[in-house]
Amino acid sequence: MAEHFNHFPLKRFAGIVADCMGVALPESFAPGISWVSDILKKQLGGAADRAVLYHADAVGQYIWQQYTDLLAPIYMHTSLAIPFLSTVMSVTPVAHASMYTGLDPEGHGIRTYVRPRLDCVTLYDVLLDLGKKIAIVAQQDSTFLHIFAGRDIDYFECANAIEVQQKSLELIGSDRYDVISIHTFDYDNAAHAYGPESKEGLNAISLEAEGFHRIAEALEKYKGRHRALLSYSPDHGQHLTAGGRGAHGDTSNEDMNILHFFGTIA
Ligand SMILES: [Zn+2]
Repeated sequence: MAEHFNHFPLKRFAGIVADCMGVALPESFAPGISWVSDILKKQLGGAADRAVLYHADAVGQYIWQQYTDLLAPIYMHTSLAIPFLSTVMSVTPVAHASMYTGLDPEGHGIRTYVRPRLDCVTLYDVLLDLGKKIAIVAQQDSTFLHIFAGRDIDYFECANAIEVQQKSLELIGSDRYDVISIHTFDYDNAAHAYGPESKEGLNAISLEAEGFHRIAEALEKYKGRHRALLSYSPDHGQHLTAGGRGAHGDTSNEDMNILHFFGTIA
């Protein structure tokens, strides 16, 4: 039986966010997906002036296929689910670099699990040039804190997904940030240790989905005052290994196929 892989590469992510915010990107970036941003902008009633981008690490599309109920909190706040194909290698720094530079791994230079500070133009750099205020909220030692370091971004490093959630709620409440990127990897950790479909892993999916729900609720308080874009955007999946643990980095369907959810609050 043939394996089926998703069509849109992750490098299209930056273009979608930029299009929704009415921001033009340099030509180095892959285009967004115009029908996606058209739908979202129609819902928003104009360009987004807020974006909250939640990156739950390692949630593969087959998790959604098999455990759809776990993502009910995501469905509550989103209207579009778009299939994406992760990068080669299917590991966090390669994937997140492509998502925020609009480049293939050969273009941004991160092709394996290494985490140098990126010096090519990222979505963040374009937004900073426009005077946007940006925060990154992430778990300890997150890839975001390495590859996107050294910019005029406020970085918040938190001990766990619960702290990430609390800090994100505080920042949204402060109404100071135009763009907030959030990175949690409780599921990735649990799936590596116990297997992608383990009780521990699935509990972590729920925990992160609940965090997303609370964050969306916080944004809803600003309904009518802001036009907010919201996304739930994993980087890659995980597959089960012979030892019962989870792994990723190869070109399997489980590692490569992921699903992003987009929503609007306006
Ligand atoms: Zn991992």
